[in-house]
Amino acid sequence: MGGMELGVPQDPRPRGRPLSVLVLAENEDEGRTIAARLQRGGHPRYLAERRGLGEIASLVPNGTYDAVLLSVEDPGPALAALRLVRHTLGRTPVLVIAEGLEAAQAELLREEGAQELLERTEIQEPRVPLLERTIDWAVERAELGGELERARQVGMHLAHHDTLTDLPNRQFFRSRLRQLLAQARRHKRLLAVLFLDLDRFKQINDTLGHTVGDRLLVEVARRLSGCIRETDLAARRGGDEFTVILDGIRRGQDAARVARKILLALQRPFHVDQHELFMGVSIGISLFPADGQDVETLVKHADIAMYRAKAQGGATYRFFLPDMNDKALERLALEQSLRLAIEREEFVLHYQPRVDLKSGRVIGMEALVRWQHPDLGLIYPDEFIPVAEETGLIEGLGRWVLQTACAQNRRWQDEGLPRITVAVNFSARQFQHKHPVDLVRRALDKSGLAPDCLEIELTESAVMQDAAVALETLSELREIGVAVAIDDFGMGQSSLSYLKRFPITTLKIDKTFVRTLLVDPKDAAITEAIIAMAHSLRLRACAEGVETPQQLEFLRQQGCDEVQGYVFSPPLPVDRATELLAGARPQITVRA
Ligand code: C2E
Ligand code: MG
Ligand code: MG
Repeated sequence: MGGMELGVPQDPRPRGRPLSVLVLAENEDEGRTIAARLQRGGHPRYLAERRGLGEIASLVPNGTYDAVLLSVEDPGPALAALRLVRHTLGRTPVLVIAEGLEAAQAELLREEGAQELLERTEIQEPRVPLLERTIDWAVERAELGGELERARQVGMHLAHHDTLTDLPNRQFFRSRLRQLLAQARRHKRLLAVLFLDLDRFKQINDTLGHTVGDRLLVEVARRLSGCIRETDLAARRGGDEFTVILDGIRRGQDAARVARKILLALQRPFHVDQHELFMGVSIGISLFPADGQDVETLVKHADIAMYRAKAQGGATYRFFLPDMNDKALERLALEQSLRLAIEREEFVLHYQPRVDLKSGRVIGMEALVRWQHPDLGLIYPDEFIPVAEETGLIEGLGRWVLQTACAQNRRWQDEGLPRITVAVNFSARQFQHKHPVDLVRRALDKSGLAPDCLEIELTESAVMQDAAVALETLSELREIGVAVAIDDFGMGQSSLSYLKRFPITTLKIDKTFVRTLLVDPKDAAITEAIIAMAHSLRLRACAEGVETPQQLEFLRQQGCDEVQGYVFSPPLPVDRATELLAGARPQITVRA
């Protein structure tokens, strides 16, 4: 390995000289025992110097120890002693030996720079090797950290760092991981790889432009670096993907702890120009040695776990599980056949009536997309919309749904059927598209449908992602006369102050509240509150997923304006929806 490949870490060399270890013990006897133990044998591998805690202050700053063992009776004084040692000895790795550490105390010690926490029982004879192994590992690790630092100073930095965020780049990440793996193998240590992907970053980039996107990435990188220790490594893989190496963890839960910390750090809003942006991140975790032995496998498995986190809605983390491999393949297959499905027009729309509770009449139809798969039969949107969103296929699909629904409604009118509204669901990504209003305008023009016969359904999260932009888009939609409903209301976290300002027409109460309306008083209360709130904002309230006459009756008593659900009709294929519009139904009698 050429020594001049500076910046790319080299494998640690075999050691020629003994390591010098400073033993700082609260209990003198113990200090003596540990020191003696380390120096045992004819050619000791360690030179140990023993001091009491009271002597820390008199240590030579940046003294030339390879490692420090700090042994305390109970956790209390450990923190103060650790700070002092770190202050005086700089980057020298410190191993803390204590008894009965609680999780919070351990966390504090780690944050103060303890490389390793050992229980006293773990290092008692005959379990000698653990202590030695831990010292060796901590020293090697510190040396690697030093190399990184030197590379920074020497200016090799550029070739190995991402110019935007200044994090190490993909190439550096790989060589460092390779090296840390060798080390972990040698010292029988665990190591974790985290794969991070920002949720919905593309939309922000597409709608607000690259400058905003770039600044967001820089801030993400900054927060990310704040979540890990000096000796860990965070790198930018490209785009909105980041990877992190956590070495020196003692159990998988340590990696989960860091993942939670990152999630929290990225939850705080980002302020870029006048925009207040909310950015989730999906994190996948793979562990060495359980989930892979080499760089490629560990990264691939962390990536697969990240996809699971994303599929479960994002803003969360997942550990890799062996069966995820199969799921990843399934997903890939789904993605490929979805691409074809759009070309082959394998989609159909079903229509579910929306009934006005006062008049008992059908006043609208919600268009719900289904995939008529040649082999698998009818597939429901929950199974393919998330993939379509992630891959961008939603744009083509969404355009098709919008145009087909508008054309259908126009056809019903041309056939002399009642004039109703057709409701079309927009996913977050469609809504964040550059010109959602143009799409709507074009569909109306092409079909000849009047704007007031179209309603767009949006989820809270789609609207709240960038409230400023949403406000503008919604206003434009209202200007051309299209109605706007907030779908699945109550599930997201919309800010009421925005809701007041958004020019929307309807709140659709999520079906999870409706389902347990009569069994869970809390859901009844939420439903009542949403209806009351809708009315005070001069919006219509529509309950979805209404299945029983009892639920219907409750909603009627609360003054709910519209309902949709199996109690009246499931989503229907076009011909049956047409029959329903033409026929004698509704069959449910709604008392006025
Ligand atoms: P959504 O917009 O909230 O649609 C209502 C869902 O509730 C539909 O599921 C409908 O079939 C179901 N539903 C209706 N009545 C009842 C009932 O009484 N009980 C129960 N348990 N469920 C009922 P579906 O068709 O599977 O659609 C699921 C979601 O997929 C939709 O939720 C919507 O968010 C999304 N989606 C559907 N079509 C499209 C589309 O064209 N574009 C986009 N972006 N998303 C779509
Ligand atoms: Mg809907
Ligand atoms: Mg809904």
